[in-house]
Amino acid sequence: MIRIRVNPQVCVGAGQCVRTVPEVFDQRDSDGIVVLLASTAPDERLTYLQKAVKLCPSQAISIELDPKP
Ligand code: SF4
Repeated sequence: MIRIRVNPQVCVGAGQCVRTVPEVFDQRDSDGIVVLLASTAPDERLTYLQKAVKLCPSQAISIELDPKP
C-alpha cells in the first residue's frame, strides 16, 4: 500500500497531479489548491504516483510505501 500526503501550504495549483492520478488528487474550485481524495493507494499505482511527485512544481506531494496490507 502507498501512503500519500500533500502540503496545501506550498501547492501552487498547477494541476499536474490531478491530470496524472485523478482518483487521488483534486483541486479546490475557488483557487486550484490540491485536495487529497484518498490518502492511500494500491501498489499498482506507484508509477503514476511517482510521476505526480516528479511533475509537481512545488514539491507538495510525498509518497511512502507501507509494507502493511
Ligand atoms: S501538482 Fe503540485 S502544485 Fe500542482 S496542484 Fe498538484 S500539488 Fe499543487
